[in-house]
Amino acid sequence: MVKPDRQPPQRSCIACGSKADKRELLRIAAPKDGPAHLDPTGKSPGRGAYMCRECLASGRTADKGRLSYALRRGVTDQEWAAIAQQMTAGAR
Ligand SMILES: [Zn+2]
Repeated sequence: MVKPDRQPPQRSCIACGSKADKRELLRIAAPKDGPAHLDPTGKSPGRGAYMCRECLASGRTADKGRLSYALRRGVTDQEWAAIAQQMTAGAR
């Protein structure tokens, strides 16, 4: 199959909803058997949710409900706290 030489895949930020190049966004992965976590490589298995760097830089975070919706599964408070912490660290 020939890949069309067009735009890279776009994803929506779960916090502000703006679309951006997938590579510009931070991925949160939710594997089937394991906690949801920040996925800096973008290669972890499972569903992914994305956040843009602008939201990270401004300290805005998506709420847990939106993340759960994007990942099609529940996110525990613990998972969310760990992700939020990783995002804050990664934004620096
Ligand atoms: Zn955003």
